[in-house]
Amino acid sequence: MMFNIQLYSGTDTGLVRDSNQDCIAAHHWQEEAVALAIVADGVGGYHGGEVASRLAVDTIVEHLEKRVHQAHSGGGFAQHWMDDVLRDTVNQANRVILEQQQQTPELWRMSTTLVMLLLKGDEFALTHQGDSRCYRFRQQQLHQLTVDHTMAQEMLDRGAIDQQEFIQSPYHHVLSQGLGLGDELSVSIQQEPLQSGDLFLLCSDGLTNCVTDEGIQEVLNQPGETQPKIDELITRANDNGGVDNISVVLVEVND
Ligand code: CA
Repeated sequence: MMFNIQLYSGTDTGLVRDSNQDCIAAHHWQEEAVALAIVADGVGGYHGGEVASRLAVDTIVEHLEKRVHQAHSGGGFAQHWMDDVLRDTVNQANRVILEQQQQTPELWRMSTTLVMLLLKGDEFALTHQGDSRCYRFRQQQLHQLTVDHTMAQEMLDRGAIDQQEFIQSPYHHVLSQGLGLGDELSVSIQQEPLQSGDLFLLCSDGLTNCVTDEGIQEVLNQPGETQPKIDELITRANDNGGVDNISVVLVEVND
C-alpha cells in the first residue's frame, strides 16, 4: 500500500534567544516513496549549537539521499534498509561533529539533539538523541513516541528518584544522550506500520517547554489546513514566554 505523504514545517527564534540554533529538514523522494523529517536542537558556546545542528542535518540528508538513489538504481531496498540507514546516518553525523570539534577549538563543546523519522512504503522508523520529540496524532489523540534522553528521565527510569522529585529535578535540561557527546552512541529504533490518517509531529523542546501536550492536541484537532497549525503552535509557545527556539515538523499520512 502506498500512502500519500505531506510534509509541513516551521521554525522560530522565539522571544529571548538572539539566534536560532535549531535546524530542521523535511524531504520526500516521491518516486521511491521515501520521506524524511528531522529536528535537531544544537547547544554549545559561541555559535557551536548552530554549527552542530546544521552539521547533523546536512550530513544525514546528504547520506540518505545517496542511499535512496543507490537502492533505487541498484538492487532495490534491502530487508532492513530503514534500520540500517538510520543507524549509519546517525553515527556518521556524530563522527562529523566530533571531527569538527577537534579541528575548531571554539566548537569543542558543541552538541545537538536529533529526532529523525523515516517513512518508506507502509512503515515508519524513528530514532532520537536527547530531548527533541516525536509524537503521533492518531484518532484525535496525541501520543508521545520518544522518551527524552535527559538525566532527569534516566534517574526516574532507574528508580533513583520518584515522580515528585522528577517534576522538580534540575536535570531536565542535561542530556544523557546526544550527538557530539562521545564516540559511543547508543542508537535505538522503533519501527511500526503506518495507518491512513496518522499525523507525526517532531519538535524541539522550545515547543514542549511552553505548550502542554493537551495544548498541542487541541491545535491539531482544530479543523482546517495543516500549515497554519504549525504557526499556531509557534504563536502559543511565544505567548507562553518563547524562551527558546521553537521548531515543528508535521508529517501527514493519507490514502
Ligand atoms: Ca532547545
